[in-house]
Amino acid sequence: MQLYSYPDPSTWPALQQRAATAEAPQVAARVRAIFGQVREGGDAALLSLASELDKASMTRLLVSEAEFAAAASQVPADLQAAIRQARANIEAFHAAQREPELRVETMPGVACSRRAVPVQRVGLYVPGGSAPLFSTLLMLGVPARLAGCPQVVVCTPPQSDGTVSPVILFVAQLLGISTVVKAGGAQAIAALALGTVSVPAVDKIFGPGNRYVTAAKQLAAAEFGVAIDMPAGPSEVLVIADETANAAFVAADLLSQAEHGPDSQVVVLCNSAAMLDEIRAETTRQLATLPRRDVAALALENSRAILLPDAAAMLAFSNQYAPEHLILATDEADALAKEVTNAGSVFLGHLTPEAVGDYASGTNHTLPTSGYARQYSGVSLDSFIRKITFQRLSPVGLRALGPLVETMAEAEGLTAHARAVTLRLEALAGEKTTAAAVSNPYAGLIRPSVERMQAYSSARDEFEGMAPVMLDANENSLGSVGPADFSRYPDPHQRAIKVELARLKGVAPNQIFLGNGSDEAIDLLVRLTCTPGRDHIVICPPTYGMYEVAANLNDVGVTRIQLTADFQLPANAVETLAASTAKLVFLCSPNNPTGNLLAQEAVEAILRSFKGLVVVDEAYADFADAPSWTTRLAEFPRLVVLQTFSKAWGLAGLRLGVAYGSPALIAYFDKIKPPYNISAATQEHVLTALASAPSLDAMRAELLANRHQLAQQLPQVPGVAQVFPSDANFLLVRFTTDATAIYDQLRARGIVVRNRTTQPGCAGCLRLTVGTATENALLLQALKEIGAGC
Ligand SMILES: *Cc1c(COP(=O)(O)O)cnc(C)c1O
Repeated sequence: MQLYSYPDPSTWPALQQRAATAEAPQVAARVRAIFGQVREGGDAALLSLASELDKASMTRLLVSEAEFAAAASQVPADLQAAIRQARANIEAFHAAQREPELRVETMPGVACSRRAVPVQRVGLYVPGGSAPLFSTLLMLGVPARLAGCPQVVVCTPPQSDGTVSPVILFVAQLLGISTVVKAGGAQAIAALALGTVSVPAVDKIFGPGNRYVTAAKQLAAAEFGVAIDMPAGPSEVLVIADETANAAFVAADLLSQAEHGPDSQVVVLCNSAAMLDEIRAETTRQLATLPRRDVAALALENSRAILLPDAAAMLAFSNQYAPEHLILATDEADALAKEVTNAGSVFLGHLTPEAVGDYASGTNHTLPTSGYARQYSGVSLDSFIRKITFQRLSPVGLRALGPLVETMAEAEGLTAHARAVTLRLEALAGEKTTAAAVSNPYAGLIRPSVERMQAYSSARDEFEGMAPVMLDANENSLGSVGPADFSRYPDPHQRAIKVELARLKGVAPNQIFLGNGSDEAIDLLVRLTCTPGRDHIVICPPTYGMYEVAANLNDVGVTRIQLTADFQLPANAVETLAASTAKLVFLCSPNNPTGNLLAQEAVEAILRSFKGLVVVDEAYADFADAPSWTTRLAEFPRLVVLQTFSKAWGLAGLRLGVAYGSPALIAYFDKIKPPYNISAATQEHVLTALASAPSLDAMRAELLANRHQLAQQLPQVPGVAQVFPSDANFLLVRFTTDATAIYDQLRARGIVVRNRTTQPGCAGCLRLTVGTATENALLLQALKEIGAGC
């Protein structure tokens, strides 16, 4: 290793030079000739090149079923286990790189989205020869599989007996890759680029290789329309070591890079002359014990040990050099890592050798060399996908955007561009709303697959009540285990409850859907209207979390209209929704977690102008002094009202939620709901509760009195900044001090409230459910003590 002491920064570029590849023109000419041979001769050319260059005589190029079948038994069990764990780690890290589809309504009616689509045909080059790099197959095959590439072709050079390393075949099988071609070098790349009878042509070629492979990939990219993962050169490592480093560890890392090949690049930077001496001595000592010491020694001849004044200088040098692998062998690794601007992959601390990244930590080992880390990332899931963008304009979108595009196109003198817009605007102007859209308020709103599907017909669908002998539903005719008899399925249509509830609420029974909590109704609303991966809904945060969860769970997009500082719909909400292509909007009134009713006029304006379903969630309506939106159902066919037995009724444990809508809409719910979604126990108990509904009034009155008292007392507590007005059975309270700390201290005292500090517009806020008089007194006492301590 050549030693440089405190080189002047002006000399750094010379020290950062990689070994020149002198024979480049000859290599290029040879590669071009091989491409010609493969193009002319196809499979036969590949076989003859294998015989000439790999000294392997073969009659077929593809690995056979029999060869695959024999592979696993030749791989020792401990190696198999290690490979499985490496695969799991690589899979975990790369699977986490998936991004959800992006959807943005850039302006009203202009919907843009972006979706990842796998590269359709990929070729993975796995070097063989002296050391079959099965780890490379893991590093390339795992993300290719995760990305969903439909065709994966592996090329790897045959051994002289015409076989492929069983470990490579074992890994291929593990990853479900069945096309393995026995071809190496430039001829393999030529086959992947051009295609032969046995080797399918691919769209993108991945993998490291020698000079010929690298030159062949470049030729394939330049002249044959094939993409490549990245330009490749000899592997390299740069180690930053300081006085805290372990010289033996650093030496081992340098040698692990050097043994790759004589052209490997190894650089060590150190700010301590004594430590650098030790590292060099240790390197010499360890080199002597390596089986591949001749190769490593050659590499070390071109390698550099550089003494620099401090960490800043070492980082500056490293960032200029842009190493493929960067090892930070220092106690300060985390701090230094923040300053790294150019590197392929970074290894932090004394216990993280490059070798773990080469094999099994989970990161990819296919990384940019030769300073390309300045421009390129290593291979990742992204390398195997492309992101396709989509846009769709609604009439509102075209009316808004069209004229701007006309102006821009005309300014550029592109008349046909302008006309493409003008013709459509004219057509829009002349278009009448179709009769179907007027007569069917749900046109385009119900998910097509729901329209098409056949509903599940449960055994008990047609029966109300019981016949003397019921042998239709495979129940246990001998009865139940346990004290009560639940051996029979419940009424799938909950007819008795609907009749009672309809009477109480002044609607018809066929305007009622009962769900396993309103949460089920929320989920079904999303699924009824939204095609996964295509449609979106609107929510108005801060609001109830399940709306977004239901959307996420169904792969449905979410657009947000944030409420104002006093938690009302913003002035532009009506306009935004009028132009929106969303399938539904959730309005929560009284809203959770803010407690207030949404202004009636705003909700009404949305009901008049929005083309999707308007869901008003009235979970807390019983505590508010306002008429329920159920009284407006006849007027607005796209209105859905949600209520629940979980809050004022005090029956949260039974899980019963209600959706009210037009009979036509409720029929859709019935079509898609799980058959027996309300249990017999719940049906029985709720029927009894409905019979005593008047008792609700007394309970509600007491809760409202408690809420009033709590709202009066809270402002006197030190640290309380604001108690928001509430129409529900809870209060949103803003604190001047750290609300999360207060939340934690309450919890430590056995009082649990809801921390809403991270909700939009709710910084510093806790949500306090109104409890019994005793519970409220305990809460106030605790808050006072905590406040006094702050
Ligand atoms: C509590 C709550 C619900 C509850 O739903 P269930 O599933 O019926 O218990 C629904 N919406 C809002 C806004 C809520 O706060």
